[in-house]
Amino acid sequence: MSVPDSPRRVAVTFVNHAGAVLVKVVPGDRFAAAARLGVGFSPVSDAWRIDGLPDGDHPLAVPDGDLRLVADAEALRPLEPAAGWFWAPGDRHLRDGSAYAADQRSFCRAGRDALAAEGVAVTAGFEIEWLVADPGPRGEAAPALAGGPYGADRLVEGLDYAGALLDALDAAGLPWLQFHPEYGAAQFELSLAPGDPLEAADRLVLAKLLIQRVSRRFGWRASFSPLPEATRVGNGGHVHLSFTRQDVPLLQGGDGPGGLPPAGAGLLGALLEALPALMPIGCPLAVSYRRLAPSRWSAPFRAWGVENREAALRLVPTEGDGVDAHLELKTADLAANPYLLLGALQALVQDGLRNPQPLPDPVLGDPALLAEPPERLPLDLAAASAAFAASLPLRQAMGPLLHDTLVAGQQAEVRRAAALDPEELIASCRWLPLTG
Ligand code: GLU
Ligand code: MG
Repeated sequence: MSVPDSPRRVAVTFVNHAGAVLVKVVPGDRFAAAARLGVGFSPVSDAWRIDGLPDGDHPLAVPDGDLRLVADAEALRPLEPAAGWFWAPGDRHLRDGSAYAADQRSFCRAGRDALAAEGVAVTAGFEIEWLVADPGPRGEAAPALAGGPYGADRLVEGLDYAGALLDALDAAGLPWLQFHPEYGAAQFELSLAPGDPLEAADRLVLAKLLIQRVSRRFGWRASFSPLPEATRVGNGGHVHLSFTRQDVPLLQGGDGPGGLPPAGAGLLGALLEALPALMPIGCPLAVSYRRLAPSRWSAPFRAWGVENREAALRLVPTEGDGVDAHLELKTADLAANPYLLLGALQALVQDGLRNPQPLPDPVLGDPALLAEPPERLPLDLAAASAAFAASLPLRQAMGPLLHDTLVAGQQAEVRRAAALDPEELIASCRWLPLTG
C-alpha cells in the first residue's frame, strides 16, 4: 500500500490491559521522532478499568514512572486521509529504550518471533460484529436500521453507511474479505483479511476506529459490547487461525476428522485443554460471560467440531477453494485486547506443539441438546481468571509483570461488576469504547 509522504497528524495508539485503545497525537513532522524516541505514556494506564477509573488495589495504580510509546512506522496507515489524519500503533519502552515487560504489542511480537525460530507461523484474521444504534431515552441501544438477519433489505436501508464504511477501509488500505448484515437487529459483520498476528491485531484496532468514526458521521453509535442488550444476541470477535510448520499446513492432509493430521489433532487437543485459561484474555469483561449462553452461536462449551457454530473451536477444513484449513475461536469478543489474545494464542500453540494432547471426538449438532453435553467453559470472569492465574505456559510466555498485572486487572473487573445488578452491568459496557 502506498502511504502519502507527509501525514499532517498521526494518532499513535496502544491497547491497555482493560482493552481500551489509548492515544497520543503528534504532528506529521514529528512522526519520525515518535517512531524513533516515542511519546510519553504513564504505566498507570494499565491500572484503569473499563470505565476509565483506576482500581486503587492495582499494582500499577501509582503516579510514578513514565514510558515511551514508540510508533511503528511500518504500520502507519491513513485514518482519514482527506483531512490529513493518519494512525500508527506503538510499542511501549522504558525511558532507556529497553522493552517494557508489560507491553501488550511487544508480547504479541515476541510470540511471533519465538514461533518463527521453531519454523512455525500463525496466520490470523478477526471478524468484527457490531450494533448500529441510537442511544434511546433510557440510554438503551435502539437499533438504527431496519431489515432482517443477513437481509439485503438492511443492506439497502443502510447502503450509504455501508458504502462510506467500505470506502474508509479501502482508503486506509485495510483489506477485508466480507461484509454483511448479521443476525441481530441493526447488527453488521466485517471479516478482515488474515495476516501475521501483529498485522491482524493492528487491523482490528484500525477497523474498529473506522467503524466508530463512520457511525458517528451518520449520527449513530457503534456498540462493540459483548452484550449491548440483555434480550438480543451479542457481538462476537471471532478469530480465525491457521498454522504451518516448516511451511506445511498443520490442520489438513491427514486421516483424522475434518482431515486433521496427527500433529494438528495433538495441537487442537492442547488448545482445547488450555481454553479456560485463555478465557479472561478473549472474554475480559464480566459482561462477556453474559454473551456466552448456549444456542446463540457464541459457543460456551469446551468442545470442538467440524464446521459446528456451537463449538468453541470450529475446524473449517480445506476444500476445493484451496484456502488452508483453519480454526475459528468463537468464544472471543471485541472487548479483548487483540495483541494479548493473539500473543496468548501463540504461546499456547508453542506449548501445544511441544506437548500435544489427546483430542476428544468432535461435537455434532448443538452441544446444549446432547444427552451428555460437554463441559461448560468458565461461567464467570472470576472462574476464568483463576484458570488464567494457574496457567504455567501463559505465565512463562508473558513473564511475571504482564501476567500479574493482568490478573490484578481481572480482579478489579470482578469487583467493579459485583457492585452492579445485571442491567447496570450491561449498561456500563454498552458503548464501547468508553464514554467516561
Ligand atoms: N453473534 C454471535 C456471537 O456472539 C456469532 C454469530 C456468528 O456465528 O457469526 O458470537
Ligand atoms: Mg458473525
